[in-house]
Amino acid sequence: MRESVDNYIMKDEAMTRIVRMLESDGTFIEIIEEILSEAERYLCTSHAALFQVGTDNTLVNTVISYIAEEEAPLKANNIPRRKFAIGADSVKYCTLSSCTREERAAMEIFGVQTSAVAPVFVNDENRMYFAVFDVHSEIKFDAVKRQFISDVSKIIQSIAQKKLAKNSLLSSYEVLREILNSIGSGIMVFGRADGDIYFENEAAKKTDEIRRTIQGCVREYIGKENAGQTDKTVVHYDPESGIWFEIKFSDLTWIDGSAVIVCTAVDITQKKKNRQKIEYQASNDFLTGLYNRMKCEADLREVIKEALRSGQKGALLFIDLDDFKNINDGLGHQYGDVLLQQIAAALQGVPGLRGRCYRMGGDEFVVIIKPEQYASLQKIIKNVLALFNRPWYLMGTEYFCTMSMGIATFPDNSEDVHDIVKMADMAMYDAKKSGKNRYNFYDKSKKHNSVKRLDIENNMRQAVASQIQEFIVFYQPVVDAVTKKCVSCEALVRWNSKALGFMGPGDFIPLAEYLGLITDIGDYVLEESCRQCKAWNDAGYKDFRVNVNLSVVQLLQKNVVENIGLILSRTGVNPRNIVLEITESFAINDMERVMKIISGLKALGPKIALDDFGTGYSSLNYIKQLPLNIIKVDKTFIDDIVEDEYAQAFVKLIADLSKTIGTQIVVEGVENQEQYELLKEIGVNYIQGYFFGKPVPSDKFETEYLGQILNGN
Ligand code: C2E
Ligand code: CA
Ligand code: CA
Repeated sequence: MRESVDNYIMKDEAMTRIVRMLESDGTFIEIIEEILSEAERYLCTSHAALFQVGTDNTLVNTVISYIAEEEAPLKANNIPRRKFAIGADSVKYCTLSSCTREERAAMEIFGVQTSAVAPVFVNDENRMYFAVFDVHSEIKFDAVKRQFISDVSKIIQSIAQKKLAKNSLLSSYEVLREILNSIGSGIMVFGRADGDIYFENEAAKKTDEIRRTIQGCVREYIGKENAGQTDKTVVHYDPESGIWFEIKFSDLTWIDGSAVIVCTAVDITQKKKNRQKIEYQASNDFLTGLYNRMKCEADLREVIKEALRSGQKGALLFIDLDDFKNINDGLGHQYGDVLLQQIAAALQGVPGLRGRCYRMGGDEFVVIIKPEQYASLQKIIKNVLALFNRPWYLMGTEYFCTMSMGIATFPDNSEDVHDIVKMADMAMYDAKKSGKNRYNFYDKSKKHNSVKRLDIENNMRQAVASQIQEFIVFYQPVVDAVTKKCVSCEALVRWNSKALGFMGPGDFIPLAEYLGLITDIGDYVLEESCRQCKAWNDAGYKDFRVNVNLSVVQLLQKNVVENIGLILSRTGVNPRNIVLEITESFAINDMERVMKIISGLKALGPKIALDDFGTGYSSLNYIKQLPLNIIKVDKTFIDDIVEDEYAQAFVKLIADLSKTIGTQIVVEGVENQEQYELLKEIGVNYIQGYFFGKPVPSDKFETEYLGQILNGN
């Protein structure tokens, strides 16, 4: 009996180890694996396995099989249920030689000679089978072993029962809680009927505003009769914390079967801020903080509607800075940017314009005048103009930056947003063309030919790029007031465009400045003029001078002095015979800078003339400081000099001043004998005007004027 005593002891030892597994924290699979190995070892079989009944009840699958050392796996992993331990409610023992046909077939599927199969019940249902197999021999299990097999199946059953319960309820609840607690969003579960809190995660517990917000929202949600159908997402703002929450409600069945509302609160403040930022960026100009073109069009649409509704008028002001490119190119973008910011701020500061100013891009601004402001349109225009009558401060110095403004009213001119903007733009361009620093109303009856402007623009770009010779230099004689001898001339550009015909500078110079093409054209004119001057000097008129106009845009180019120096030396002209005409509007810029440029140019050899004197801001005091050789009095003073005593006094004053500061004085626009006589008497040095001769091509100039005594006509 020694063997059976051993058998008992071994059984007890194995069983104790197996029973201990009941307390194990391991997973179901880990525990079963342990149990199977204990069972296999004790029973000395080749295999032990746990099978599970498939969800459709037709197959029985191996959950886990324990294979003794050096044994091969079973031949099959599953078996049709109807062939497996048929009708078993207790342990079924079979060996190949003592079994039914069906049992034999089942054993052959697995390739075993001995099998013991015990059902495992979970929730009173046969869900699993515990089986031991031997593939080598037919084993007859004794009573002790049979008891062992039956006990093991019951232990597995109890473990399965326990694990399953934990999995569906407790363990899944644990997992859920862990997951929910690690979420930053607040989650709370409320009883559907009573509103009691069933669960709240760490975030909800810790953060008062989440708790407060959720509770407030859920109360409202429960209060609604048709809560199930109402909006299940609400966005809530908690004013105490300044936090935005997105709150979602889900109607669910809780683990205990009761109806609950699961409520999640996500902090969407950052998301909202980002969206606001995107919206802000979409409608704002990042540089100036003004609204942008898109917003302008949207707003204008509304204002036009409003005007139509109320039967009133509104207006759009289109502002374009004059020669902004100078500042940008000359001083650098940072300063241009600062100027734009200053102008934006100043515009916003005009009474009634806050929130109605837009930057359309570049140096273009728009102001929308709503119908209720229309009565004060003139006052607003005056205030805007006033902004540009004073200097801006850049780099610690004063800069004058003027603007041209076009105004289009609506809905009389159009009810269309794009039309209105275009009309104001066209009116602005007309203001530029008539000399900048002014405003102009869009007028249907006037022809603001924007089609023509585009045409000119395209053709000019092309001409500058590849047909610069389309630009032709004409020369107008300048005579000595006393001797009437033609001692110099002014080079005046024309454009003989193949596509558009012959044009005077008034038709394209402002646009060329606006488009930044003036530098190329100006360089070309200067070079042509220098060559011509040299040719005439070489031909015997050795002191004959040529005056060349320089645009402000050209003058504010960074390398203007160097560039002009190159042209002078390239042409080989005697620089002393070149007179560079700069306009008063350039001279009133930052004094230090203007001085530097003028002195730089002068050092190259040419003389400097101040053109259009009397039309701009400059004071006589200011003029005195500039190293000028010549002052050209503007034609407007000459037009009615015969009748106008003020004009006479002005010219006399300049003539006297010129003498004292050592400059010479030229008057332009002299058209008749009377004017000439009067100016000669006043003491003007040189005369330029149609009276002595119009601008003409070089060949004509040579034959009719060069070095000749002119009698006028
Ligand atoms: P500006 O420099 O004041 O040139 C004088 C203008 O007055 C010329 O007009 C000339 O033809 C005109 N003029 C001269 N005498 C008389 C007169 O007795 N009666 C009348 N009614 N007009 C007279 P133009 O050639 O049409 O040039 C107009 C403006 O275009 C010039 O004014 C100048 O500012 C600009 N311009 C011409 N050529 C150039 C150039 O090469 N570069 C630049 N930057 N500007 C130029
Ligand atoms: Ca001139
Ligand atoms: Ca002039």
